Amino acid sequence: MRTFQQVGPLRTYLRGIRAEGKTIGFVPTMGALHDGHKGLIQRAKGDCDLVVTSAYVNPAQFAANEDFDRYPRDMNADQAIASNAGADAFFMPSTDEMYPAGFQTVVDVPDMGAVLEGAHRPTHFRGVVTVVTKLLNIVQPDRIYFGQKDYQQLIIIEHLVRDLNIQSAVILVPTVRESDGLAMSSRNAYLSEQEREAAAILYRALMLADEMVKNGVTSADEVKRDVERLISSEPLASIDYVALINPDTLQEVHSLADGVALVALAVRIGKTRLIDNWFVAPAGIPISKNRLSSQSRAK
Ligand code: AMP
Repeated sequence: MRTFQQVGPLRTYLRGIRAEGKTIGFVPTMGALHDGHKGLIQRAKGDCDLVVTSAYVNPAQFAANEDFDRYPRDMNADQAIASNAGADAFFMPSTDEMYPAGFQTVVDVPDMGAVLEGAHRPTHFRGVVTVVTKLLNIVQPDRIYFGQKDYQQLIIIEHLVRDLNIQSAVILVPTVRESDGLAMSSRNAYLSEQEREAAAILYRALMLADEMVKNGVTSADEVKRDVERLISSEPLASIDYVALINPDTLQEVHSLADGVALVALAVRIGKTRLIDNWFVAPAGIPISKNRLSSQSRAK
């Protein structure tokens, strides 16, 4: 695996790859790589001739009161994980490289970026969309890969790519989970032992929603109420939001009778804010209509 810290040499390398007629897959991350990131890299490697992974903790997507300073960083471990998972190139730029003096352009998907996560983190998606636009322009991949865990991010990037005629396919990869169902996340490292146990409540809440909808409950309000009640039964958990949404528009739904909906959660366990989501549909309606052929349950 080759490591690059600067845009110029990475571009020169990728120009050579493209000239050979090879396809390029791209997995952007903030580093602190775990098995969820590994799953994205492996999927990209299965689809494409060459895989580029980036690790960059993007200051523009953190608000002043958030965890930018203490976000876990370990570039040596990340390079080993990326390489073992099959990445061919690893891009780890500095902030001077990404936002040189005088930088001022922003890219935004304002409506879809204002709901759910955006309602709680108002500048977050502007930071995400701007840095992903830059990375797409630098790497120019055939395909870019995102995890289901950050579903709203994926939908927003699909919009970006469509609206700005960017020639990359956006691919959704199922969430990789711990054995108790907790979605893998770099932020799980913040959890104490007791909080780590409590964090399994997110997955249990998603499974409750899944079961209710499969058993014929069609009222989104009823599902939301029971999910909120279950999460609130965990003393270390406090709810930021529980939402049942249309997976294409991100708008809240009221009836679950005739299609696939997404249950999206943001829950604080102690001081750590965790997100997760799950597609739900009445028995007999396949979720495969919605971008994903399957979603992964806890093993
Ligand atoms: P992050 O490093 O947290 O910004 O995430 C980088 C990419 O990895 C995003 O596309 C995430 O959705 C994806 N990702 C993070 N955690 C998981 C997980 N547990 N399973 C699958 N993808 C994940």
